[in-house]
Amino acid sequence: MYKFKEVKENTFVLSLDNHVEVAQALAAFCEEKGILAGVVSGLGAISEATFRFLDPATKQYVDKTFSEQMEVTNLTGNISQKDGKVYLHLHITASRRDYSCVGGHLLSARINGACELLVESFPNQYVGRVQDTETGLNLYQF
Ligand code: FE
Repeated sequence: MYKFKEVKENTFVLSLDNHVEVAQALAAFCEEKGILAGVVSGLGAISEATFRFLDPATKQYVDKTFSEQMEVTNLTGNISQKDGKVYLHLHITASRRDYSCVGGHLLSARINGACELLVESFPNQYVGRVQDTETGLNLYQF
């Protein structure tokens, strides 16, 4: 699903395998390394991505899938825990064939080409989340 190298203490360079789903592969890596808190950034090429938009007025999620080849111009996110599992909060910007960009809160992205990530873990730190009733968001709980 991925290859990785620890380039300095608690910092990893990852190369995800072609055709895997980014969030799934990253969560698997966090599970493997026992990462409870951290940050991630990356780039790559994808053929499909699903974004999520939360309408604050209705608290309803609106999901949209883009099924086309795109360059990941930026993937950024954080790693925390919710209900005893890895919780990834990922945002993405991706450029289309015509160089226009789409972006948002990322639910899933299918690699078609390559995906290179940098993961920094914060060892011995637990960062949890709980759902906030006012916003409907899963917010940090310190
Ligand atoms: Fe978000």
